[in-house]
Amino acid sequence: MTKTISLLGSTGSIGRQTLEVVRELGLSVAALTANSQVELMEKQVREFHPALAVMYSEEAAKELRQRIDDLDVEVASGSEGLLKAAKLPQADTVVTAVVGSVGLEPTLAAIREKKRIALANKETLVCAGELVMAEADRCGAEIVPVDSEHSAIFQSLQGCRDRNEVTRLILTCSGGPFFGWSHEQLESVRPEDALKHPNWSMGAKITIDSATLMNKGLEIIEAMRLYRLPVEQVDAVIHRQSIVHSLVEYRDGAMIAQLGTPDMKLPIRYAFTWPNRAASPDRKLDLLTCGELTFHAPDLEAFPCLRIARACGKTGGTACAIMNGANEEAVMAFLRRETGFNDIHRLVEGALNRIEVKYQPCLQDILEADRAAREAVRQQLGTLKGNLHL
Ligand code: NDP
Ligand code: MG
Repeated sequence: MTKTISLLGSTGSIGRQTLEVVRELGLSVAALTANSQVELMEKQVREFHPALAVMYSEEAAKELRQRIDDLDVEVASGSEGLLKAAKLPQADTVVTAVVGSVGLEPTLAAIREKKRIALANKETLVCAGELVMAEADRCGAEIVPVDSEHSAIFQSLQGCRDRNEVTRLILTCSGGPFFGWSHEQLESVRPEDALKHPNWSMGAKITIDSATLMNKGLEIIEAMRLYRLPVEQVDAVIHRQSIVHSLVEYRDGAMIAQLGTPDMKLPIRYAFTWPNRAASPDRKLDLLTCGELTFHAPDLEAFPCLRIARACGKTGGTACAIMNGANEEAVMAFLRRETGFNDIHRLVEGALNRIEVKYQPCLQDILEADRAAREAVRQQLGTLKGNLHL
């Protein structure tokens, strides 16, 4: 059971909910990190008394130093700051709740220190899942998923003694705000429309990923890496109510699922208490009032990101890192209103067409694929402006 955490990404949606669970379970906090939200970081530092507070932005770190100069807290910045937080000896668990591939190197650093990883940052496993899992095996570090679907699978696998008995993982997917829309209708979607998620309140990047269904694509790859299964054994079904959080199908036909209200605090809490469970003060699921549970096949014509992600999962090598880097860059451009909603998948496909996949990649190859993918998206945004659906 977790006693002391380093929380990477404390000011975000997962970060703030993690701190609620920290309060509830009476855990200690060794380090907190954020990018630029200084005011919230100051508040968190004053409440949780970490030894180290990191602002990725140098400017924000300077401001934080001034704001908390009455406290005995070290303030650091940049990638070195994140790495320091990931390796801090006082922490037994590192929560990776930063957004994007910036989480990769700190996660590897924490694994090498044999920390329990409470993993929310799915981009890390998408880019470098095979490498990360191999390093976790080598170092004997536990990776416990926080992503609700992967936590549901993790919970449904408890008691399974032979992984060969698992025939399929089925990830559920809310379908996002545009369920039932055609590709043509999606052409005119604006950021403010896409930022409205029906069931979950999350950071901007993952909310857009949920609207394009890239989130489910990333999660299919995350599941392949965590549970070491080929893409053919990982499916996604649309389940609008977000009550069944995912399922494991066994070879005798049994399907084991985890159900609950849509609340990230449950998987966060479980990542800290596993293999035990703690009492929760939150509202429990009421089967008599939760309504009908429905399941549909995803529409791959309208939402090509899901198809692209499956193809990259099959290709392997650096394909997933290219896809992920391009998607991060394309989503940011969409949020800045520099490109259209359907251009996200076009830009990702464009990057995949331009960059050669490397097989058996080392960390350097993955970081280079990520960089090249971002560059390819920026180039396409520059040169294709007239042709894109702006
Ligand atoms: P948010 O955008 O809400 O929070 C991101 C956090 O990371 C913030 O603390 C932010 O700091 C920090 N951050 C952003 N950019 C950088 C950077 N370049 N360097 C260092 N820190 C940075 O994201 P979410 O909490 O929604 O998501 C976090 C991760 O968890 C993602 O990988 C997401 O896919 C995954 N996840 C999220 C779920 C959710 O319900 N939100 C569910 C399942 C998975 P600042 O606030 O200062 O910008
Ligand atoms: Mg999820």
